[in-house]
Amino acid sequence: MKSEDLSKFDELVVLRLKELLLSRHGLRAGDGKDDVLEAASRFDAADLNELVFALRRIEKGIYGQCVICRHDIPVNVLKSNLTARLCPSCETVMHEKTDPSR
Ligand SMILES: [Zn+2]
Repeated sequence: MKSEDLSKFDELVVLRLKELLLSRHGLRAGDGKDDVLEAASRFDAADLNELVFALRRIEKGIYGQCVICRHDIPVNVLKSNLTARLCPSCETVMHEKTDPSR
């Protein structure tokens, strides 16, 4: 992923974290990224952890890479699900494996 795309997603993920923390934990709207991360670390919630994980991946420059096959996850997939870790084809394989009806 290009660095300008990474910084765009960095903003989106921080914004999403902020929304969650604002509604739940009374974070102030003017708080910066460090405050947001600090607040997120105090609450051990799965959705917050997922977003913090996404931020770490952005910092490492590997955000948007499938954790299984390392192919790029399409940007439109990431936009609708900021914490996506799998590309659509691995997602399908995982889903089939974990689907109890099969
Ligand atoms: Zn994949």
